[in-house]
Amino acid sequence: MPMYEFTCRACGAEYEELCTSTEAAAGKVACPACGARKSERKLSTFASKDAGGGSGGGCGHGSHGGFG
Ligand SMILES: [Zn+2]
Repeated sequence: MPMYEFTCRACGAEYEELCTSTEAAAGKVACPACGARKSERKLSTFASKDAGGGSGGGCGHGSHGGFG
């Protein structure tokens, strides 16, 4: 389960919570300071891995053999 950073829109407290991305997006995480469920998820500071696409294909070894 990933950890997300939140900012409480009620009291302005910043906190981290372990929750699913769905819960994080919905802002259903209760603030530990005031208990309000008005959390706003902050962007993660660490860089996320990008799915880099490589070039595929190229030279293929095709052997033609056999006469029909
Ligand atoms: Zn709060």
